[in-house]
Amino acid sequence: MASPFDAWIRDEEVVTLLAQEWARQTSTLQLIASENFASPSVLAAGGSILTNKYAEGYPGRRYYGGNAVVDEVEDLARRRVTALFGADHANVQPHSGANANVAVYQALLEPGDTILAMRLDQGGHLTHGSPASITSKYWHFVSYGVTPRNDDPDHPGEVIDFDNVRDLALAHRPRLIVAGATAYARRIDPVPFREIADEVGALVMFDAAHVAGLIAGGAHPNPVPYADVVAFTTHKTLRGPRGGAIVSREEWAKRIDSAVFPGQQGGPLEHAIAAKAVAFREAAQPSFSQYAAQIVANAQAFGAALVGQGFRLVSGGTENHLLLVDLRDFDVDLTGKEAQEALDRAGITTNRNTIPDDPRSPFVTSGLRVGTAAQTTAGMREAEFGQIAGLMARALRGRGDEAVLAQVRGEVADLCAAFNPYASFTS
Ligand SMILES: *Cc1c(COP(=O)(O)O)cnc(C)c1O
Repeated sequence: MASPFDAWIRDEEVVTLLAQEWARQTSTLQLIASENFASPSVLAAGGSILTNKYAEGYPGRRYYGGNAVVDEVEDLARRRVTALFGADHANVQPHSGANANVAVYQALLEPGDTILAMRLDQGGHLTHGSPASITSKYWHFVSYGVTPRNDDPDHPGEVIDFDNVRDLALAHRPRLIVAGATAYARRIDPVPFREIADEVGALVMFDAAHVAGLIAGGAHPNPVPYADVVAFTTHKTLRGPRGGAIVSREEWAKRIDSAVFPGQQGGPLEHAIAAKAVAFREAAQPSFSQYAAQIVANAQAFGAALVGQGFRLVSGGTENHLLLVDLRDFDVDLTGKEAQEALDRAGITTNRNTIPDDPRSPFVTSGLRVGTAAQTTAGMREAEFGQIAGLMARALRGRGDEAVLAQVRGEVADLCAAFNPYASFTS
């Protein structure tokens, strides 16, 4: 079976590959925390004729003619996203979350300035100062981490260590403090970041790449009143097209816009911007708030079921869409790499991830990151996530036995057949 969206493609090789990917996405479980299923409206807008148009610049200030309609499209996206988050200004042109972050740094900082951000091996993103990222070559990063492991459920450990954030801020006087993470299961409160920044005269960027949809749906606190700038991706929990966006206070508007174009990028992807506009409207509907709440409820049920199977969760639980699983309590010999590969063979798509103070390398790891955003879009609820935890445990216990993995893969396919995200559009 092919995707119902491929009917216009006149290229057999590409259509064949898309059919294979359609089969993969609809017959295996998508548990990668940064992925989702975009709606047919988002997909169609992203495949629209707006891809034909060059529109360097911004609405009303373009370097090319013929942009009257494109200006309205981009203005619509900007209006919708500023209303969604209650922000003064929006830039919807970043091609990705990483581009958005680099543009923010370029807008607010001079080369060599100090940025205080989360350590990569404790949940931070590559653009938060990885040696492999251009960010660490232009700016000086100091990294904060999480508190030590603590198995007391009333005082979970492995949460952002605000004493550490404050001590480092006082010692290093950063120009910018970055809140936000890529592998962190707890709610991130923007208030203490603002307070610490005010104490040392720093700016605050909230990197909401993962949780933008939870914020839009009211399941997480909105950082916009506390942060100078909020950067995010549009394709993770926000469930839009692949891309980035930045909302900010009015005082930073001009600098953000010139950092994105011409600072970082050339012509904007107006087809992607149209798809972003569609996604921003979808995220403003009451049904999206229900979706955001369900993502979190599903993650909590998933976590409880994983603990029931003998896994340990980093920070003891979750308050968002993702779970960071420490595999060592389940099986001391099981690495993240081996778990990811065994689960792949069982039709369960995840990614290995370092856990705080991981004794293994980032390529091997002792952890696994899973998320509920995509399969919640497909209609799965607490009961299905309980079932998924059982399937994961069976696959990992039987990882040396192809018959066990094949059996799990069959049960996964049955589950996915009952929860096809695009089912109502295929008939
Ligand atoms: C995913 C992510 C990004 C980067 O987004 P891309 O679209 O992959 O470039 C930036 N910051 C955080 C915290 C992320 O999780």
